[in-house]
Formats: sequence, structure tokens, C-alpha cells
Amino acid sequence: MQLRIHRFLPKTSVEGPGARACLWVQGCLIRCHGCFNPSTWRASGGQVVQVGDLLNRVVRISGIEGATFLGGEPFDQAPALAALAQSVQDAGLSVMTFSGYEYEVLRRADRAGWKDLLAATDLLVDGPFVSSLPDHQRPWVGSTNQQFRFLSSRYRHLADELGSIPDRLEVRLRRDGTVLINGMASSAVLDDLGSAIGRRQRQTQGGFVAASTLG
Ligand code: SF4
Repeated sequence: MQLRIHRFLPKTSVEGPGARACLWVQGCLIRCHGCFNPSTWRASGGQVVQVGDLLNRVVRISGIEGATFLGGEPFDQAPALAALAQSVQDAGLSVMTFSGYEYEVLRRADRAGWKDLLAATDLLVDGPFVSSLPDHQRPWVGSTNQQFRFLSSRYRHLADELGSIPDRLEVRLRRDGTVLINGMASSAVLDDLGSAIGRRQRQTQGGFVAASTLG
């Protein structure tokens, strides 16, 4: 079984509760107005990886409590991602999944793997990114229309704590000068950061991922 991915980050602390592996899938059919990461849209972009290889990488990472799937659109590759999510849970780790589809659509649509991916997700964030509704109160999400769905008991305790969890960014500088950024922040912070590294960084639902080269 294969997945087309945009980026894999072995450990991050800004894409959900605690330290997590994070997988940005490649391909998105939703194409929200206001999505500033269209490089994740093309279904033929990114790279193809085996689900088994990804699972082996995830379970060998020390000190993570789970994995986060975002995109792109995870439910556009639901069968393969559901298999990965179930195996991640079987390994004792949690699964957080972002989707631009709304929960009622995900629940009711008879699409391959959708119910399986929901069943293997502990915490779902659903709904498209709407740039006119920026969310400055809750962590990890881009806009106020997006909802947290506690699909298992694992993170239900967070329901009343979301307002006290700050958005944060991680910035990684590679040896070749490439800057990789992920996480979530206000537009003002993103603008300042974008100016500082020479190119405006762009925000997507469920965190943003961007790369720019210093120079
Ligand atoms: S914000 Fe997410 S769901 Fe919306 S178009 Fe961009 S990648 Fe797709």
C-alpha cells in the first residue's frame, strides 16, 4: 500500500498535543479559497512511499505520543492512511487528523476508507480553511469554522483547555540555507517572519508548512 506525501517530520511539538510525528500528504481536491499552500494540491506531486516503511519510521521515533496527518487532504488518500493510522494506534500511539471536509460529510459519505480513517483517529479537526475567519484563540487550526472532534477518549480532557494552549512555530535551518517552518501563528507573526527570511510565508488549514531559502 502506498501514500503520496508532501513532507514527513519525525518529531514536532507544534502540530497537535505533545511531541508527534507529522505527515503532510500530497494532493487536495478541496482547494479552499485562501489556501496559501497550493504546492500540496497536485495529486502527482510529492513522493510516493510505502505505508509499511512510514510505519517503521514512526514506531522507531523515541519520545513521541502520536502522529498527526494533515495536508493536502488526508481523506483523499483515506484507505492507505487508515491502514497507517490503525497501525500507529496499535503501536500505542495517538492519531490526530486534519481534514478540509466537514465531519458530517466524512461520516455520511460512502467513500473508500473514510469510515476506517475516522475510526482510527483520536482527534479530528474538520472543515476547510477560510481566510476571512482567522482563529486566534485555539491552537493548531487556521480558521474559526474548523472544529475539534474528540473521536476517542484520548484527548477529551483537552476540550476545555484549548483556549489556554498557544499557537507556536518551529523553524529549522538546513545546512544549505533552506528554512523550513511549521506550526501556526497570527498573520502578524507570519508576516514578520516572512520578512525576516526574505519571502512571505503562507498559511494553510491545520498548520502551515513552508520552505524558503536564505540568500
Ligand atoms: S487549506 Fe488544506 S484542505 Fe484547504 S485547499 Fe489547502 S490543503 Fe486543501
